[in-house]
Amino acid sequence: MLVDNHNRKINYLRLAVTDRCNLRCNYCMPSEGIQFAENKKLFSIKELCKLSEIMVGQGIDKIRITGGEPFVRKDIMVLLQKLSTLEGLEDISITTNATLIGPYIEELKSLGIRNINVSLDAIRKETFEKITRRDQYETVYNNLIRLISEGFNVRINFIALENQNIQDIIPILELMKHYPVSVRFLEEMPFNGGSKKFESIRWNYKKILNHIISVFPEVTLLPSPKTSTSVNYQIKGHKGTFGLIPSFSRTFCGSCNRLRISATGDVITCLYGKPRTNLLEVMRSDNAEQHIEEHILQAIGTRSKTGFEEQERYKGVFENSMTSIGG
Ligand code: SAM
Ligand code: SF4
Repeated sequence: MLVDNHNRKINYLRLAVTDRCNLRCNYCMPSEGIQFAENKKLFSIKELCKLSEIMVGQGIDKIRITGGEPFVRKDIMVLLQKLSTLEGLEDISITTNATLIGPYIEELKSLGIRNINVSLDAIRKETFEKITRRDQYETVYNNLIRLISEGFNVRINFIALENQNIQDIIPILELMKHYPVSVRFLEEMPFNGGSKKFESIRWNYKKILNHIISVFPEVTLLPSPKTSTSVNYQIKGHKGTFGLIPSFSRTFCGSCNRLRISATGDVITCLYGKPRTNLLEVMRSDNAEQHIEEHILQAIGTRSKTGFEEQERYKGVFENSMTSIGG
């Protein structure tokens, strides 16, 4: 079992499988993209399989596959097949922009992978195209509806972006009234590859909640697990639920149970900090398993208690892009 220096059990790994993406969401990276890593600086699929196995052996029981866009990797199913065989791994989840997932839906189902987070920050095509800078709205929407109809446990991640998609908050809730889906509203974080700088946000979780309650006054607070990053609610008469994720306000840090590993091997113990170590060369060295375990133990032994503490410790992290961190 992995336990950090604040006595928190670390059982959740967010594994980024690539830094590449076919969209250019303006809150995530500049329009020209970022300096993507050379292929040889990314883990191979074999290495990702081995890494996952080691991490599960160390006590990780939940892995979320993220990126970049996981499905730009043509060999992604090899990793997912491997994950589905790992004993002790109870939860396999994927975060995706849902542009490329269509051909894989059947296989995901047969592997028993049911938890899919779809990032969708708009319900209008026009808003979607302005934010993502790409013309993929219909594909995403159709894949989303297909995933829901096929019985996947779907959550929508919607970042509240001032002057961009606030007008879509109520319509997305109205649309999801008839579907058993959770729409989670996230605060914007300044990890966009340096394309936009800010030190505060107007659309924080309180403002988003007030906005929703002004239209749907009958909401009930739902119970959530202690390590949940979202506070969840049900609107009376709605099949689905909604959640608020204070990713910038950081009210949930105290019970953080997660570790991130980027596609280039960086071990990230908090979004608001710098990588503690890098596993790529370690993975490619002799006796990799033992050395990786040591690096992981060392990294989680130096975690900050909160994102604010981490930010203070490592200044200048806001040049990063979420496509290389994994969200
Ligand atoms: N491409 C996939 C997707 O978009 O779902 C997975 C990678 S993406 C980096 C993971 C998550 O990070 C997405 O839900 C995305 O909305 C979120 N994200 C990206 N940039 C963000 C930012 N600046 N602030 C808050 N969340 C962000
Ligand atoms: Fe790509 Fe996801 Fe970043 Fe959008 S948020 S640019 S889909 S990695």
